[in-house]
Amino acid sequence: MIEIRDVHKHFGAFHALRGVNLSVQPGEVVVIIGPSGSGKSTFIRTINALDPHDGGSITVDGIPLQGQGNLDAIRREVGMVFQSFNLFPHLTVLDNITLAPIRVRGTSKAAAEARGLELLRRVGIEEQAHKYPAQLSGGQQQRVAIARALAMDPKVMLFDEPTSALDPEMIKEVLDVMKELARSGMTMLVVTHEMGFAREVADRLIFFDGGNIVEDTTPDEFYNNPQHERARVFLSKIL
Ligand code: ADP
Ligand code: MG
Repeated sequence: MIEIRDVHKHFGAFHALRGVNLSVQPGEVVVIIGPSGSGKSTFIRTINALDPHDGGSITVDGIPLQGQGNLDAIRREVGMVFQSFNLFPHLTVLDNITLAPIRVRGTSKAAAEARGLELLRRVGIEEQAHKYPAQLSGGQQQRVAIARALAMDPKVMLFDEPTSALDPEMIKEVLDVMKELARSGMTMLVVTHEMGFAREVADRLIFFDGGNIVEDTTPDEFYNNPQHERARVFLSKIL
């Protein structure tokens, strides 16, 4: 589903991604952890070209990430959820969800709203459909953001620390939605330090350090027996 070969990214003179390689199978759930500044966000942002890479190749569902036509095709297949929800504040919850299907996919308003309500039911907040984002809790807003991404029927979902901005009592409701999504067979890349989530649903755990993947293993292997000193130190800090 995702094929990443020798991907590099520079910000000016700073070499943020240093030859990253990764293959993700359809339906795989990959959790990415690592110290702040190690390149996790940059890495997942290159996959839908929010940050264009400047070396190597990225292919999503057989589409090489090059050229504007392919870029649009890939962005339709890749949903993304950020730490900071990023909902449109002036639109209702339902309008947040139907905007892209109507504008980008040409779905009818009625069909987009029916599907939007179905997705809101899936994430457990159908009754909030006609409210504005500011009227919702952080956990509810993040579930709207997930529903909004799903409304485009993505083949891949990218999550960048989706629970880091949430109060503790709201983290579970978002992780539960992500768990259900993982079990439904969605291909997912998730940057998170929630080791409980990783151990329960991740097929693989990737440890990033210094702009590259340092360990690529199972969550249990990583948890019980990290191979690198940097990973051991990191683990001791987050547990
Ligand atoms: P992480 O998500 O692992 O905390 P990031 O991918 O956000 O790390 O950042 C990796 C490195 O790239 C950091 O040193 C950061 O300062 C740098 N960086 C990220 N985005 C930019 C940018 N837009 N301009 C310059 N430097 C950036
Ligand atoms: Mg980050």
